[in-house]
Amino acid sequence: MKKLLRTKICDLFTDESKYNKEVNVKGWVRTKRGSKNVAFIALNDGSTINNIQIVVDFNIIPEKDISKVTTGASISVNGILVESQGSKQKVEINASSIIVLGEANPEEYPLQPKKHSLEFLRENAHLRFRTNTFSAVFRIRHAMTFAIHKYFNDKGYYNIHTPIITASDAEGAGEMFRVTTLDLKNLPLYDEKNIDFSKDFFGKETSLTVSGQLEAELAALALTQVYTFGPTFRAENSNTTRHLAEFWMIEPEIAFADINDNMDIAEDFLKYLIKYALDNCNDDLQFLSKRLADEEKNKKMQDRAPELIGKLKSVYESDFERITYTQAIEILLKSKPNKNKKFAFVIEGWGADLQSEHERYLVEKYFKKPVIITDYPKEIKAFYMKQNDDGKTVRAMDILFPQIGEIVGGSQREEEYDKLNSIIKEQNIPEKDIWWYLQTRKFGTVPHSGFGLGFERLMLFITGMGNIRDVIPFPRTPKNAEF
Ligand code: ATP
Ligand code: MN
Repeated sequence: MKKLLRTKICDLFTDESKYNKEVNVKGWVRTKRGSKNVAFIALNDGSTINNIQIVVDFNIIPEKDISKVTTGASISVNGILVESQGSKQKVEINASSIIVLGEANPEEYPLQPKKHSLEFLRENAHLRFRTNTFSAVFRIRHAMTFAIHKYFNDKGYYNIHTPIITASDAEGAGEMFRVTTLDLKNLPLYDEKNIDFSKDFFGKETSLTVSGQLEAELAALALTQVYTFGPTFRAENSNTTRHLAEFWMIEPEIAFADINDNMDIAEDFLKYLIKYALDNCNDDLQFLSKRLADEEKNKKMQDRAPELIGKLKSVYESDFERITYTQAIEILLKSKPNKNKKFAFVIEGWGADLQSEHERYLVEKYFKKPVIITDYPKEIKAFYMKQNDDGKTVRAMDILFPQIGEIVGGSQREEEYDKLNSIIKEQNIPEKDIWWYLQTRKFGTVPHSGFGLGFERLMLFITGMGNIRDVIPFPRTPKNAEF
């Protein structure tokens, strides 16, 4: 076989200088179909959702030479790139030689050239990258990662790497995963019951982080605009389609910004990411839109998810509704599903924690656009949120999206030393865990704000996928850490 530089399949469709020239492509076979004199191979290398069609003329390459070219096999192809005869594709390759790099025995290869269920593909997560759906999802995931860094970089934010192993559970955001090197069969005790963590690796109890926020705040109080983008771990036993035990979170933190600035930034950021996907991931979004429409067509009209690209555009063009928690409760109390007890958690009155069913009612039924809720009761929010003068509420803000519910949680932070100190005492947060955080309020404190965007929740929204396990390559959920 003649040695040629490999061309990416995506470039074959866009680079007209390659027409009528000999090219080499490498990839994995999606399908092979044939007739008496000719075979057609659909080949994909992950660079685009579109397959390149390889035309094999049995007068040039004998049929027996491509008997091992089956779905899943990897091959290298030389041939002339020509404008296609068929109407389905723009270009195709008339093969002059084909080498099988790796066979995929059809008797054993788990993926067949047919539709597989998402559950089946989850059990075959090592191979699901090779499907149209998952290659589209993970290309978009990359594009979103890049867009996030670009957004902040262009605006002069600094990316801060906050620690993954932490010694404080100050956030109280959820159950934590312990990190230890102690021998679990022979734990050092300092009395009958209690483990002596001074013997542990770090000399104290440590866990995987549930948020990078507290450390990001330290950085913001010097660098003014910072953000983290890292893995986050929560051992909450919530087996939902929107919770992972290991997920990625983007957490900007901005000095000299109040709750209103915070909402403006978060709304602008989310719209930027949606626009970036629309502008840069069109082929994949078109594919996912068709896929979604296909899934939804068997559902009742009122249960169907909206068309994907139209939904993205509509959120991009909308002004997010901004209401207080108190207003949200008033709307929910008057709502039909609450009066008819259709909600799993019926709202009894002010103070109730909002569940995803309530959030989705507000977004999908009531306002029909994203909603930002502010000023939550302090009892249901974290200690670090700025207290309002009413003594009851804090300057929290949650952003709620259609189909998702909460996608962003944020707040203005309590910057006054005395107020922060008293709430820390009230909630029995040990001084030894939090002294450094408190100290930033003693020296050069300023109003500041920030929020956390769950990356996989964003991915659910952008791709229209229904289960959070399908937008991260290797999901970690209760009883599941395969691959
Ligand atoms: P929820 O009420 O949905 O569990 P939360 O209030 O625990 O969310 P925060 O602690 O405010 O969430 O975290 C910030 C963001 O991180 C959330 O808005 C959400 O987008 C995302 N997030 C939180 N928990 C998870 C999880 N277990 N898996 C994936 N994303 C999550
Ligand atoms: Mn949670």
